[in-house]
Amino acid sequence: MAYDPDNIFARILRGTSPCIPVYEDEETLAFMDIMPEAEGHVLVVPKEPAETLFDLSERGAQACIRTTRLIGIAVKKALGKPGVYISQLNGAEAGQTVPHCHFHVIPCTAETTYHPHATVRADDEELREIAARIRACLA
Ligand code: AMP
Repeated sequence: MAYDPDNIFARILRGTSPCIPVYEDEETLAFMDIMPEAEGHVLVVPKEPAETLFDLSERGAQACIRTTRLIGIAVKKALGKPGVYISQLNGAEAGQTVPHCHFHVIPCTAETTYHPHATVRADDEELREIAARIRACLA
């Protein structure tokens, strides 16, 4: 299927829709998920227009993994959680709701109860405060 340039992450990347940023480099952007599955849920997206991981160039995929690793280390430290759950869905059949490739980075403990995927809208002020804590832990 052709890439939809009007999807929400494409608009965030163009700066025409807002996000709460955590990290940016030439190839990737990381920002807070506004409907987090758990506290500290960050999304890592490539700047390259690609619907799934399989549409992404090898270079784009490498950049995403590099940033996902960086963000995983930072959220673990910032939230003080021993575990980090990382997921990445490809295609509506797999549960992908936004058609621009992305990685979910979710700090957790064994007791973490997850909100169902993309359902509970978080408070922006709380998300900004968590984003600041994560940015402060970036190496
Ligand atoms: P997926 O279902 O894997 O495509 O995940 C899409 C994710 O994007 C979900 O976790 C949503 O909560 C999240 N999301 C949707 N719209 C926005 C937005 N405007 N800003 C940040 N996160 C969003």
